[in-house]
Amino acid sequence: MIDSIKDKITNLQILLRHYQYQYHMLDQPEVSDSEYDLLINELRVLEKEYPKFLMTDSPTQCIGSSPMSRNTLKKVYHEVPMLSLDNVIDKNSYLAFHKRIEDELYDSDQIRFCCELKFDGLAVSLLYEDRRLVRASTRGDGNNGENITNNIRMIKSIPSYLNGHNIPKHLEVRGEAFMFLSHFKKINYEALSSGHKVFSNPRNAAAGSLRQIDPCITLKRQLSFICYGLGLVEGGTMPTSHIKCLKKFRDWGLPVSEHTRLCYTRDEVLEFYDQMKINRPFLDYDIDGVVIKVDDLLLQKKLGCITHAPRWAVAFKFPAQEKITTVRDIDFQVGRTGVLTPVAKLEPVSISGVIVSSATLYNTSSISRLGIRIGDRVTIRRAGDVIPQIVSIIGSNAQRYEVIIPIFCPACGSVLKREKGETGVRCTNGLTCSAQLKGALKHFVSRRALNIHGIGEKIITQLVEKKYVKNLADLFNLTITQLSEMEHMGPKAAQYLVDQLEKAKKTTFSRFLYALGISNIGQTTAVNLAAHFKTLDALMNANIDDLILVNGIGRVVAGRIRHFLDEENNRQVIRILIKDIGITWMPMVGLY
Ligand code: NAD
Repeated sequence: MIDSIKDKITNLQILLRHYQYQYHMLDQPEVSDSEYDLLINELRVLEKEYPKFLMTDSPTQCIGSSPMSRNTLKKVYHEVPMLSLDNVIDKNSYLAFHKRIEDELYDSDQIRFCCELKFDGLAVSLLYEDRRLVRASTRGDGNNGENITNNIRMIKSIPSYLNGHNIPKHLEVRGEAFMFLSHFKKINYEALSSGHKVFSNPRNAAAGSLRQIDPCITLKRQLSFICYGLGLVEGGTMPTSHIKCLKKFRDWGLPVSEHTRLCYTRDEVLEFYDQMKINRPFLDYDIDGVVIKVDDLLLQKKLGCITHAPRWAVAFKFPAQEKITTVRDIDFQVGRTGVLTPVAKLEPVSISGVIVSSATLYNTSSISRLGIRIGDRVTIRRAGDVIPQIVSIIGSNAQRYEVIIPIFCPACGSVLKREKGETGVRCTNGLTCSAQLKGALKHFVSRRALNIHGIGEKIITQLVEKKYVKNLADLFNLTITQLSEMEHMGPKAAQYLVDQLEKAKKTTFSRFLYALGISNIGQTTAVNLAAHFKTLDALMNANIDDLILVNGIGRVVAGRIRHFLDEENNRQVIRILIKDIGITWMPMVGLY
């Protein structure tokens, strides 16, 4: 029993660490926020019940993700940690927070609460020295963030110089960088029309735009900023009321939200929450709740903090946005690793301004778990505004059809298999399966892999369908004549792509490893593998015991790496890429 609880806690920790990394570092969430929140709450409950399994590095104790050890964005140490916020999702939990504050501060005069919007963007710290903006950084893991000064200078609403009186010599202002919804729609429309990848939501768009190496990209993305707090203050004083600090910020030229209210009672706080919930659809930016803070900074100090959040503030989140619609059909798609993903085709509905016509069901087991059939009326949710999810079935039309789960791969026709410990089924035909080959090529050329410009999903599809490309290495043998046959590709674009392919032959060891698309090998693990083994030969000869010595690799992942490297097809493609195509990297230089 205890062993199975320990395993459950460990598995949840591994999964949530992975989700945190995808969300905070790569801006590519794999699950919706509500699914993530459910899992992290489950882990919190288990860790509370079995405190001996609570580790200091558990996802429940961490903030965001550590900055990657790449040499592009430098690390910044936060002298005053940048914490996250505890959150509540219903009135009763908010009232419990309010009561705790009143109980703990029973000997204080009337307690004031500063209520603000919870902007859904990226936390940023701005450091002003002698009025001048000298540094800007992300939150990172709360102690160390990334230096994004050059990019932040591209946000027009952030002053590079503060005007006014009594400005402390060193002043650290904290706030949220975000993208206006109207601009988000515009850039996604442009991306779609030019065949580029669209952002899944404004938060990812803002976060991705700020971590660019080239500040001109940040400029084009037109981000905005709002201040909500203080960090380090030296060489001067600030008021001891939070709302008065915000007023000072505004006087000095910093952007502050107009939707901020000082409340004296719990009813006033609840009224503010209800009002903002009504206002939400009319705002040109995403908010996912309101934040309630004890206004008096001395009382804040008295209440203190826990590892990841202050005890004097709480985020009161809005419920996820839900709508009812009908399931028209269920499609099955095969991903890069061969996993079969059911996708529900829906009667289109609009949720928070976006038309939703499909929802992922994650894996084939979700169909039986939800008991879903074609024709069902379902509730769908865009929580965190990422991929829409089916939450529940609420009824059905007169005609309801059972979903038949394929036994053969819809792309290549081979028999699908359920592997030990997996919830879904997968095609094990590797790159001989056209769907897996397309997925593998998309990953291989992507920005974080070999970063090959001029080739998108549409071109890849045509190249695979025409059988010009049967494996990763074939890409490098494409001729201008072959490429010019592709739709929307003239000789100029074909020449450009050939040049880009040539350029991509000089890469880094970790990028090469990541590009191979080994199951479970994300960017960080690829960097760790490259740093540990240093040469491809050393990695190819490593056994499971050698592999688990690498930071972040356990037996399961080690087994998957070994399995990939033992496959004769994979070995051959790696050999061709290195020996015939001439892919090279400098030994241990510029890992990322
Ligand atoms: P959070 O977003 O719930 O709250 C903390 C953040 O709120 C602060 O860091 C700050 O950036 C922001 N904020 C906005 N307005 C504010 C204001 N007025 N005052 C103070 N802060 C304000 O916490 P988090 O640690 O950034 O992220 C955790 C959340 O992110 C989770 O609850 C989950 O919803 C989501 N998440 C999702 C995934 C996924 O895979 N979908 C993974 C990890 C995290």
